[in-house]
Amino acid sequence: MGLLRKSRYKSRRGRKHILSLRKRLVLEHIDKIMKRALEEATRGNIKLAEKMGKFARKLAKWTGVKMPRRWRYFFCRKCKSFIMPGITARIRVRQNRYPHVVTYCEKCKNYKRIPVRKNKKTSRG
Ligand SMILES: [Zn+2]
Repeated sequence: MGLLRKSRYKSRRGRKHILSLRKRLVLEHIDKIMKRALEEATRGNIKLAEKMGKFARKLAKWTGVKMPRRWRYFFCRKCKSFIMPGITARIRVRQNRYPHVVTYCEKCKNYKRIPVRKNKKTSRG
């Protein structure tokens, strides 16, 4: 956490910048892999897509980068495998109490509930 060390160097483009650059590259790479995985999954190559998703997760783990939120929906929280809505996962939108999305993993039969945050700009009351 609070790694605020006093450095002799005036912090312009210091080590922090390099680290964030590396992270950014990893994130870009994960993005590419996940996009390819989605493409493959929509084409019906779910096995290949799963492999790619697995690799993307490993990459994030190895490099200590957090999986971007938009891709986190494509992984089952329980069995950690890549799930594709419509193929290996079922997505339902529920409105009871609060709006949320329910993903159902066909592999481990696990339900996951994701609350939906309303955008501030929604004109619907
Ligand atoms: Zn699962």
